[in-house]
Amino acid sequence: MTSRAIVVLLGKQGAGKGTQCDRLSEHLGIPHVSTGDILRAAVRERSPLGQEVESVLAAGNLVSDDLVNRLVEARFAQPDAAPGALLDGFPRTPGQAEALDDLLGEDGIKVVIDLEVPSELVIERLSSRRVCQECAAIYKDSDVAAISGTCERCGGDVIQRPDDFPDAIARRLETYERDTAPLKEFYERRGLVVTVDGSRSPDEVTSDLIAVLRERGLA
Ligand code: ADP
Repeated sequence: MTSRAIVVLLGKQGAGKGTQCDRLSEHLGIPHVSTGDILRAAVRERSPLGQEVESVLAAGNLVSDDLVNRLVEARFAQPDAAPGALLDGFPRTPGQAEALDDLLGEDGIKVVIDLEVPSELVIERLSSRRVCQECAAIYKDSDVAAISGTCERCGGDVIQRPDDFPDAIARRLETYERDTAPLKEFYERRGLVVTVDGSRSPDEVTSDLIAVLRERGLA
């Protein structure tokens, strides 16, 4: 049993989970927990974990359930996650979904939002995506920060992620269909899933998401 507000975002790579979680995090006052961001920070710091996972991330493959489950458990133990968290990129395999249930108790997840976007659109978005290596802010290749290579939020380097190139994008989308898409059904059986059209503008998607969270008493 938990009274934490745990919100899970499902959706393909490039569906807008990161952008929306950043916005909702400010709105709800709970942290955006992205396993991808945690892993990329480890790679940047060249920690032992980072060195272990660097090539896995660059190829667009998944790191082991065991490792990611431990990272999330440690993240949940931090005080800012006591009131809740927006989970982006976790769980993404059935094994991770089970680990999350073990961690929170079966009624721990308040809502699972599936951000739906067609594959053609996510491929276009990922190819033009640029990110800050320091704070994970997301830009488009046509944004001033992407062209200058300097983040407007923190001054960090803005780069193209090594897995945002065609081969790795294709591999990630395949992995999503195989390992992660079945989680939607897993959570549907518990009546937790709300599907939101992620193909519209970021502002339109944010207002839909806030409406969903309000209905559930979370915003
Ligand atoms: P995307 O969803 O766009 O691929 P993320 O930032 O969520 O981006 O993840 C980047 C990479 O980090 C993944 O391709 C994978 O290698 C690793 N990763 C992130 N979350 C998980 C997870 N829950 N399980 C296994 N690997 C993960």
